Amino acid sequence: MGKGKKVVIIGCGIGGSAVGALLAKDGFQVEIFEKTRFIGGRFASYQKGDFRLDVGCHIVGNCDKGIFGTICEMIGEKVEWAYTRKPGPTFVYGNDWLKFPSGAAKLGFGDAEMAKILELYSDLSTFTEADFARLNSVSIAEFLKNYLDDNRLRAIFAYLTGMYFVVPDYETPTGDWARCQQEIVRNMASGYPIGGTGAIPEAFVRSIEKRGGKVHLSQAVERIKIENGRATGVILPGGKEIPADIVISNADIKTSVLDLVGAEKYAPAFVEKVKDYTWSEMTFIVKAALDQKITNEKLIMYLNPDNIVDVAKLILQGGVPDKAPILMIPVISNLDPTACPEGKQLILAGAACRTKLDSPASVWKQWEEAYMRTLYGIFPGMEKHVLWVEATSPKWIDNLFGEGGNVVGVGQTLIQVGPNRPPIVDPVVKNFYHCSADSGLQGIGGELASDAAMRLYRMLSKG
Ligand SMILES: Cc1cc2nc3c(=O)[nH]c(=O)nc-3n(C[C@H](O)[C@H](O)[C@H](O)COP(=O)(O)OP(=O)(O)OC[C@H]3O[C@@H](n4cnc5c(N)ncnc54)[C@H](O)[C@@H]3O)c2cc1C
Repeated sequence: MGKGKKVVIIGCGIGGSAVGALLAKDGFQVEIFEKTRFIGGRFASYQKGDFRLDVGCHIVGNCDKGIFGTICEMIGEKVEWAYTRKPGPTFVYGNDWLKFPSGAAKLGFGDAEMAKILELYSDLSTFTEADFARLNSVSIAEFLKNYLDDNRLRAIFAYLTGMYFVVPDYETPTGDWARCQQEIVRNMASGYPIGGTGAIPEAFVRSIEKRGGKVHLSQAVERIKIENGRATGVILPGGKEIPADIVISNADIKTSVLDLVGAEKYAPAFVEKVKDYTWSEMTFIVKAALDQKITNEKLIMYLNPDNIVDVAKLILQGGVPDKAPILMIPVISNLDPTACPEGKQLILAGAACRTKLDSPASVWKQWEEAYMRTLYGIFPGMEKHVLWVEATSPKWIDNLFGEGGNVVGVGQTLIQVGPNRPPIVDPVVKNFYHCSADSGLQGIGGELASDAAMRLYRMLSKG
């Protein structure tokens, strides 16, 4: 079906590897150039001693029941998944451990609040595409005021909603958020890939290579070659040209437009729009290797209600808290025992951080200490079992993958949703496409990048 057309893809993140695998399956000749040594961009995994770590701190929204499963089925590759079940996610609110929302009564909420929570979830389950579109102009913070009066409940929901798009609740579009929430509740398949997050892009690359495609790591692309308004290939550092019928950029929209093509090729209004896109928030992560198992939990969502407003303000202003006010804590080795040797444990913890990227190492150390203090409060005695801690700052993410070290890509905010997301089809250069989370329309993180890949594949496979 691909009629042997040559496709060059810049970047081997989820967007690049997914579209490459889909096109290779249809007979396109695929060649990927990835500037880092990693397969999978921000979804990559890597080894540290006998522990396997991921670049980020991930939980996948819908695992095999979502778009990753669809792509794997289409390309004939298998990824095994571990759901966050048995035990399901636990919410730690200060010192209270509970399931949410069923255990919310444990926090002292009365029948009226519980009824409102049930009404909220019941309403969310009935929303249609028309509701999603209508509600995309309303922030989730505003929307939840219809249901929740209690500040503690609002704080819990702000945390839960922020986990999806990693933008503040007052910027999160209700429609897209509610669509994701519906899909997650329908599928009940949130979890983690066996073999690490990198197992997903590695499956895509395996499929590309089986079909004769090539993936070059540690090989950046410097420019896109454009002749008579058409992309005709890419230029590597040193000037080597790689010809192509189609060029796809998995790099972010700013790099693609402003650097790989060049701002001078576009209308000034489009260049301004590209410059104005804002990223999702950044996160700081700790990855703790332990000499023994200290918990049977698979996913803990922690929220410390003490001074939450003041601490959140401090973080929004770029400060470092004494303890983390919120943490998403996937216990990776309980989800996937292959992540570390038997009897040991791997625990990750991450949350939003707005510290300036050029801050000195001492500031990142303060973040690490704040997170570890928080973990020691959650798991008394943990400190005796720490073999080592690897901290992943947004600066590290930025050094590797750019985009200001943000989590998702162009943030899914009220003004960057639906038709206002960056385009898949380049508006000027023919045969040139954008395929990353930036140009995805629906989904969370890696699933958003896959959404762009699927849309682009459908477009090109018809042509
Ligand atoms: C800390 C953290 C936590 C996260 N948590 C979750 C989560 O729980 N669930 C979830 O679904 N998602 C999560 N995400 C988000 C998810 O990882 C990203 O949204 C997704 O991986 C983005 O994929 P992408 O293909 O758009 O971009 P990327 O992963 O950034 O891939 C783009 C690739 O292009 C390469 N590239 C760029 N320029 C060039 C060039 N000139 N030449 C060659 N190569 C180039 C880059 O090196 C990179 O490998 C998290 C991300 C982080 C950082």
